[in-house]
Order: sequence, then C-alpha cells, then structure tokens
Amino acid sequence: MSYCVNCGVELDSTAKFCPLCQTLVCNPNQPVDRNSPTPFPMEREEVPLAPRRAAAVLISVMLGSAGLCCGLLNLVLLASQPWSLYVIGAAAMLWVFVVPPLLWRKLPLTAATLLDGLAIGLYVLLIAWEVDGLDWYLHLALPATVLLAVILLVQGLLFQRRQMSILSTLAVVIAAVAVFVMGLELLGDLYFHGAWGPSWSLVVLIVAVGLEIPLMVVRRVPGLRREARRRFHM
Ligand SMILES: [Zn+2]
Repeated sequence: MSYCVNCGVELDSTAKFCPLCQTLVCNPNQPVDRNSPTPFPMEREEVPLAPRRAAAVLISVMLGSAGLCCGLLNLVLLASQPWSLYVIGAAAMLWVFVVPPLLWRKLPLTAATLLDGLAIGLYVLLIAWEVDGLDWYLHLALPATVLLAVILLVQGLLFQRRQMSILSTLAVVIAAVAVFVMGLELLGDLYFHGAWGPSWSLVVLIVAVGLEIPLMVVRRVPGLRREARRRFHM
C-alpha cells in the first residue's frame, strides 16, 4: 500500500500519479502495477445517445400501434361513429410532446412550445370538426390554446434566462396560473355573454395574490428565507 508523499492520500497499486495532487508516485518497495485494470476510466468518452433514440422509437411504436389498433377496431365496431379519430389524434399529440425533445436534445424552447401549442390546437380542431363546433373552436378554444402557449413560453424563457430559487419559481408559476385563469374567463365571457364579467377567476386571483405576498416577504427577509430553506429543505 502506497501513500502520496505530498497530500497523504491512499493510492491504488496502479496509480502512477496521485489522483488528487498529481504528485509522481515513487515507492521503491512497491513498484507501480502496470498490468491490473485501473479503478476508474482514464479516457474521456461521450455518453452514448442510443437510449434516447431507442426510447423515441419505442414510444413511436407504442403510440402508432395504439392508433392503428383503434382505427382497425373502429372499422368493425361502431363503424358509423369515427371514435378512433380521437384516440389517433391524442396519440399524435402525445408523440409531438414526447418524441422531438427526445431526438433533438438542443431543440430550442420556442420551437418546442410552438410545436406543443400547434399539436394541442390541431387536436382540439379535430374534436371541433367532429362535433361541428368550429364556432367555439375559433372564438374560445383556439385563443385559449394560444394564451396557454404564450404563458408557457414566457415562463420557460424566464426559467432559462436565470437560475431561480424554489420560492421565485413558485411565485412565477402562481402568477402564470392566475393570468391564464383570468384570460380563460375573459374569453368565455366574451364568447357566451359578449362582455367581460369576472367572477370565479377573481377568486383564483385573490388566492394567488394571497400566496404571492407571503412568498415576497419570505424572499425579502433573509432570516425568514433561511428558516424556509431549513424547514422545507430548499
Ligand atoms: Zn497527493
């Protein structure tokens, strides 16, 4: 057993240099073992990408076969109603959510959000077309989808721009939920009544403000912040 003459760390019999301080190992009583394998790899290697690609293929096959089976079943069972279209559409939407981020690790957030928003919009369009509801699609579902996509995009860009603490993240998410709920009620009111009369979204807004104020206080006061970190393991 050799020890580093500089830092005293215990050395493996195969070590030519101390792994901590790079001091040359020179022990006349125990020459360096050049035949045994080293305890850790000495060369840098790329982590293989295969598992992500394999997962993408597996998910594609699963979603594809689910859609195909339902389509074939639909031809035999309840053939007058195209119920399998909903399953096929949902499978396609899930595919867009999961597979592109798996295949393209550097997919920009804006592109990913745009793709997801487009997938949701197209799926709701499929339902609207099937139930003859293009009117509510254009005036309610489509604007709501766009609003959701914009909120998620802004939130994602905020998180990407700087590392946020759990408290700040929570504050942003609560604000995003409040904005979305307000927007949703506005769109619903405009569609059904022609004028904005906020009611249930105001309750959500008040709850959100009630949650944001203590979060802000905790963020501003260092003592409270430390206490929150300690108690909630943040
Ligand atoms: Zn050393």
